[in-house]
Amino acid sequence: MSDIDVLVSEVGPRDGLQSINTIMSTSDKKKWIKAEAEAGVREIEVGSFVPPKLLPQMADTADIVKYAKSLPNLTVAALVPNFMGAKNAIDAGVDKMCLPLSVSETHSKANLRKTHDEVLEEIKQIAEYIKTLDKSERPKFEGNLSTAFGCTIEGKVSEKDVISLAAKMMELGCDEVGLSDTTGYANPTQIKRLIRLLKQEVGDNNLTSMHLHNTRGLGLANALASLEEGITTLDSSLGGIGGCPFAPGASGNIVTEDLVFMLDSMGLKTGIDIKALIEVNRMVKTCLPDEELYGFTVDSGLPKGYSEGGWGAN
Ligand code: ZN
Repeated sequence: MSDIDVLVSEVGPRDGLQSINTIMSTSDKKKWIKAEAEAGVREIEVGSFVPPKLLPQMADTADIVKYAKSLPNLTVAALVPNFMGAKNAIDAGVDKMCLPLSVSETHSKANLRKTHDEVLEEIKQIAEYIKTLDKSERPKFEGNLSTAFGCTIEGKVSEKDVISLAAKMMELGCDEVGLSDTTGYANPTQIKRLIRLLKQEVGDNNLTSMHLHNTRGLGLANALASLEEGITTLDSSLGGIGGCPFAPGASGNIVTEDLVFMLDSMGLKTGIDIKALIEVNRMVKTCLPDEELYGFTVDSGLPKGYSEGGWGAN
């Protein structure tokens, strides 16, 4: 991480693909992941270890993890909803696992069919299981606070609840916690306040990542606010693939190409070749002809005379 300033974590193969109707073939997923890794993306959340009955789009995740592990310089991440999922993820060889806990308990019950206590129990079991593994086989285990900035069912979410649930996740053995604006409700002021409050509770080094959606167009503003508060990992999705079932026409995660363009043009190092990334977008578009892709940089092209690493000082 030392040679880059910001780690862009691609979540399109998980968050994007699980939110659309098209089921991408295993070979297309592999092509996408390989091309993005070759463009310099260092971390990709490649899938989710959920029962295929619930999410048939993710049925091949173990196979995808094994493939992605063969690619150089790539951290292979996956989402796990529970202990069973975590065990499968570890067997497949993931480098990093994220377990989401909805701060809104109504959302948690609707999505995972679990109360907070039940999710925390799964976290405890996972952390205990990880301790039994050889150090070389232990994946990084992140507890993710989803709906941290608001919930489509409950509306406003209490910051106190975010803080106390984060503290519990750390206590139970998560390596770190991350914040998710699952619903695209956040604004930059709120982002800054919550990061500061949460860092006071868990420490600077235990909150490094932010997961943003661009539902209301505030995604990049929120990304910048996060960076200004010391966040160093930003999740994004190629072409903003994903959408939001509650906001027709809205994109999904913040768009990887636009995020990388912003960071690169500001002179922040991501390790990613923006031109190669734009080519990946074109390839993925041909794999998903019926799905809408979002973002501005691909459509508008790079500014005239743009050279990687930003414009520098005039
Ligand atoms: Zn998301």
